Amino acid sequence: MITENGEAMTHRLAQVRERIAQACLDCGRTPGEVRLIAVSKTFDAPHITPVIEAGQRLFGENRVQEAKAKWPELRAGRPDIELHLIGPLQTNKVREALALFDVIHTLDRPSLAAALAKELPRLEGQPAPRLLVQVNTGEEPQKAGVAPQEVDAFIATCREQHGLVLEGLMCIPPADEPAAPHFALLAKIAARNGLSALSMGMSGDFETAIALGATYVRVGSAIFGGR
Ligand SMILES: *Cc1c(COP(=O)(O)O)cnc(C)c1O
Repeated sequence: MITENGEAMTHRLAQVRERIAQACLDCGRTPGEVRLIAVSKTFDAPHITPVIEAGQRLFGENRVQEAKAKWPELRAGRPDIELHLIGPLQTNKVREALALFDVIHTLDRPSLAAALAKELPRLEGQPAPRLLVQVNTGEEPQKAGVAPQEVDAFIATCREQHGLVLEGLMCIPPADEPAAPHFALLAKIAARNGLSALSMGMSGDFETAIALGATYVRVGSAIFGGR
């Protein structure tokens, strides 16, 4: 079913893709280096289906329960869809999260690293999800993420103590500050820890994030409209 809404979203998706390509050109990067995650949280299947039909394959959700209610049906018969968890993960939901998500962007504390390490061997015939460590670059007390001065030690613990393979880092800069210094800090931490993936940039700042090395941008409202 292509509704008027569906057309608006596929149009906005095309615009976001064009802006990503332009941002890559502007800083001498190859557009294929930046992967677009369409953040579909709060939107239901009739909103998401047109975006899938327009060719989008990476989607982000911030709640395990919401993803569980929507995605098994939406992705049935579409093995190339990738689901990314971009919201906090409680340790008691790790098993469910591993069954649903291909990538987890919010590894942010030792107890979660331990819970993941414990559950991963139980995954039979299913690839282990890729893992990114969330860094609280703005050191905001209400926000999840490892503090910048603790992140090197946390990465070492994940690798050495828990045997986790890490793909990269993720951050959500403070809403009331310029994002660029936060993106630059995340890139610096990733480089010194030998991590290649950088999940940074949302609807309001993804071009800035691309200029500073983003490999995943997480874009919601610029595609789906306001929540
Ligand atoms: C909601 C959300 C986004 C998308 O935000 P928009 O401003 O709508 O693009 C990106 N990242 C995280 C972690 C989110 O929770």
